[in-house]
Amino acid sequence: HAKSAGKSCYKFYDFELAMVSVERNRIERNIKGALNSNEICVEFQPLVDVVNNRVYGAEALCRWYSHDLGMIPPERFIPIAEQSNVILELGKKVLVESFTQLHHWRSQGLTDLVVSVNVSARQLSDKNFPAIISYLLNEHDVPADRVELEVTETAIQNNKRSKQQLDQLRALGIRLAIDDFGTGYSSLSRLKFLPFDRVKIDRSFVMDLPNSESDVEICKAIFALCGVLGMNVTAEGIENGNQLDTLRDMGCGCGQGFLFGRSMPSQQFVEWVKGFHLNNG
Ligand code: C2E
Ligand code: MG
Ligand code: MG
Ligand code: MG
Repeated sequence: HAKSAGKSCYKFYDFELAMVSVERNRIERNIKGALNSNEICVEFQPLVDVVNNRVYGAEALCRWYSHDLGMIPPERFIPIAEQSNVILELGKKVLVESFTQLHHWRSQGLTDLVVSVNVSARQLSDKNFPAIISYLLNEHDVPADRVELEVTETAIQNNKRSKQQLDQLRALGIRLAIDDFGTGYSSLSRLKFLPFDRVKIDRSFVMDLPNSESDVEICKAIFALCGVLGMNVTAEGIENGNQLDTLRDMGCGCGQGFLFGRSMPSQQFVEWVKGFHLNNG
């Protein structure tokens, strides 16, 4: 019995694996078409200055509304796109859309807003990347200091090349943020030597505040460290007032999460900003 059960276990496992790779292939094959047919679009999630109660800006998050496969979350297609140069095309599309919308917000008088765009390892290591950013800033007529780029810890190699790339980007005047901080190899030397302006504390450390003592201490340590290094901090995944109060007491400057708003289309974000400022004087 045990033997046959074991066997069927293997079969089930093989089947699951096969399904995963079938899905993977479908996503891989469809991604290029989706880019051309505009099934992949960009939405904007509010970033809030929780000290002054002002909108800081928005993070651009891509969405794939597939005609054949339904809504595909970025966690399912970004890692696949990242395994080939498709991510360069996708990343460029997100940048173009983000800069276009930033220009649009500014033309409506919302000139303080910052747009924050996620950048993959392959984009960052592309030697043309700083030139692409520079070109797009000009083409869309947006000031560099209203643009932030988010890079995850795992996407940054602690080497000379990464530093050169980041220095070139910083020299353009754009802001740089480390995303999902605390989940990769958080290296202190990296924080010290790379030209980052901001650390984004990963949602996993915010989720169980204020009850988890260890998460309270971890967040405090991150704020202390960033204070010493002169870096700004954004806390991700704030879903309730308790989490916000706890983070604010620790000295958190900026927050993001469902408490403030989910990702939304650009025009809806503009309405959201106007409403927020009305309610907060
Ligand atoms: P991320 O950059 O850390 O983005 C934040 C993610 O947390 C988003 O998920 C957002 O919807 C989610 N989130 C924000 N606030 C809350 C909250 O209060 N509760 C919960 N449960 N979730 C919250 P999303 O949009 O599914 O994106 C997932 C990841 O996919 C992003 O994580 C980012 O790493 C990647 N991604 C998204 N768009 C792009 C893109 O254009 N380029 C690249 N390279 N990666 C992207
Ligand atoms: Mg991000
Ligand atoms: Mg993040
Ligand atoms: Mg995260």
